[in-house]
Amino acid sequence: MLYLKYEEFTKSVFKFIVKSGNYNKLKYIRLKIHKEIRQDDTHGMAYRCTVRIFLDQILFNKRDYSEYDIKGYIVFVVAHELSHLLQSIDIKRYHSEKKYRNFIEASADIVALEYIKEYYDILKENIGYFSLDVLMEPERNAREYLNKV
Ligand SMILES: [Zn+2]
Repeated sequence: MLYLKYEEFTKSVFKFIVKSGNYNKLKYIRLKIHKEIRQDDTHGMAYRCTVRIFLDQILFNKRDYSEYDIKGYIVFVVAHELSHLLQSIDIKRYHSEKKYRNFIEASADIVALEYIKEYYDILKENIGYFSLDVLMEPERNAREYLNKV
């Protein structure tokens, strides 16, 4: 029951973001929600035209969060994965150079966070309330990393 609620929420986040902002340039994007628990930190992936969200993994890792914090985190993961599709990523370097990979990830975080802040009111109107509190830590980390490189 609870799971279905987050699954529906994830779908509406995806739908809304794809239709708004810069993302409407990206046609034919699909969303896949995965149920397996990976026991790692992978909450999402984006490659070619598919965004994969590991919803069970998110719900497992964030099991101590409140509903609105979990929802805020889901918005962040979906926006982060979608922003990868706007980046031009050198896949070879991504998989072989840690520094390059971290730079790509931190940049995607910032694009996602700025999108969420800019669209917060309209997002809430369309997908329901979610909290921004959980985004403070990823934002601090990403900005710290980008200031270092
Ligand atoms: Zn990423």
